[in-house]
Amino acid sequence: MPKKRRSGGKTGSRKGHYSQVQCSKCGRMVPRSKAKAVTQRVSLVDGRMYAELKKTGTIIQTPSKKKYYCISCAVHSHQISQRNKDLRKG
Ligand SMILES: [Zn+2]
Repeated sequence: MPKKRRSGGKTGSRKGHYSQVQCSKCGRMVPRSKAKAVTQRVSLVDGRMYAELKKTGTIIQTPSKKKYYCISCAVHSHQISQRNKDLRKG
């Protein structure tokens, strides 16, 4: 059977078993190696408050949040883009 991708769209090798993660947009379960991980900075204070606190010299921590997207959500929300057609295979 012809293969669309040499890796089957997955990264790494765990001999067939990949732990599942949930897409944070649509809730679909996808293998960890196939999902796209995106880290986002989450601000705990709103923008105006942030500017004011920054002026006074306060150190504000912005914890990062890790999100997983399935391929279709990652493409749809412009997290990743399609590669050139000749680069795609492999
Ligand atoms: Zn999704």
